[in-house]
Amino acid sequence: MPGRKPEVTLRTAGGINYEAARRRVKNLNIRVRLDGSVAVSIPLGCSWADADRLVLERREWIERSKAELTARQAKMYRQPLPEKAEALAHFTRMSDEVYPAFAAVLGGQKPTIKVRDMTSRWGVCVPAKRQITFALQLYNMPAAAQIYVVVHEYCHFLVPNHSMAFWAQVERILPDWKARRMLLK
Ligand SMILES: [Zn+2]
Repeated sequence: MPGRKPEVTLRTAGGINYEAARRRVKNLNIRVRLDGSVAVSIPLGCSWADADRLVLERREWIERSKAELTARQAKMYRQPLPEKAEALAHFTRMSDEVYPAFAAVLGGQKPTIKVRDMTSRWGVCVPAKRQITFALQLYNMPAAAQIYVVVHEYCHFLVPNHSMAFWAQVERILPDWKARRMLLK
């Protein structure tokens, strides 16, 4: 059913910034997202003040969840980088799975896949060279996020920039790309 968009507002309670949304839910609920942001859903009949109260009540839990999240992410980044050959084989396999959806725009020729130690980007696509380079660091990230990066770079063969048209292509192939991208933060 195409429901109406929930009413969303940004609020602060007890020094905690959070996103509050009125939804068709029974109870107020709160969650800490993977990117560390805090989201509260409140039933249609509740006031924003009720949301503030919940955030204040759960403040300790919110701070603990955020700390755990940061610790988990720090651990992930401390993992050693994989061997280049191993990473290349891995991303080539993943790329081969995505390739059929782009075979037409690539003229039936698979792109060249490369891997490189890159700290500022997860992937780079050079359409003119029909080439995609993945960061060795991506190997240590969750598989769901890796697939997002592979699809993202392939979509640059269709649209070279990050325009609306580009994101529409990403969404066409991976409707849940936003949640996947979140895993990279
Ligand atoms: Zn891009």
